[in-house]
Amino acid sequence: MLLELQDLTLLYGRIQALHGISLTVGQGEIVALIGANGAGKSTTMRAISGLRPIAEGRIIFDGEDITRMRADLRVVRGVSQSPEGRGIFPGMTVRENLEMGAYTRRNRSEINEDMDRAFTLFPRLKEREKQVGGTMSGGEQQMLAVGRALMSRPKLLLLDEPSMGLAPMLIQQIFDIIVEINQQGTTILLVEQNAQQALSRAHRAYVLETGRIVKSGTGTELLHDPSVKDAYLGVA
Ligand code: ATP
Repeated sequence: MLLELQDLTLLYGRIQALHGISLTVGQGEIVALIGANGAGKSTTMRAISGLRPIAEGRIIFDGEDITRMRADLRVVRGVSQSPEGRGIFPGMTVRENLEMGAYTRRNRSEINEDMDRAFTLFPRLKEREKQVGGTMSGGEQQMLAVGRALMSRPKLLLLDEPSMGLAPMLIQQIFDIIVEINQQGTTILLVEQNAQQALSRAHRAYVLETGRIVKSGTGTELLHDPSVKDAYLGVA
């Protein structure tokens, strides 16, 4: 097991956003978290990356208890988050943004290798290497955010809504790239509104409702589950 969440609770002031979340992500898996707006998907990601402290529970990553570990040290351990929306540095070029993703690393030749890999995965970024991030289109910024997250050479890549704001053709493409990244050896935990795509690409998935996990199974099982279809796939 690469990641294990044990009974996490999390508070925003007096609002309890997570009510005892337990889930696992195995080495080499793509695991998806689906659920309605406000269900707690992004909050779960923030708890894992350390951007928000949890009230109760434990987070075990790669055999180590990281529950109280600082966010930057979690990156060093191998957890990398591509934030929801356009979490890139708008004033920096594409190349500089990718460089920032590797800030915890020192080995120049490995960093260059990963830069090449990001450009191979996203040829658009290569074409726009010197363009400042803030002037890239929404979809291009999304690709840049994923590319930058990969630059820390993570063991676990956390993707928050990678398809958000993308045109249908690009949605296919970004999911193809996610599968490719996974096949190259990176474990992925994915939050998605696009349940259809997420479930058809993920090995396993969890359904969140108001801060609780209400269902889990393989991607295929959940794709064919009547209540999931009804609530999240737009077909009865
Ligand atoms: P979406 O799909 O809409 O992004 P989500 O499942 O990612 O939703 P979260 O962003 O995790 O949902 O939010 C879970 C709950 O916590 C929501 O009720 C939200 O209003 C609340 N919440 C999130 N961030 C904060 C905050 N900083 N302060 C107070 N409440 C918050």
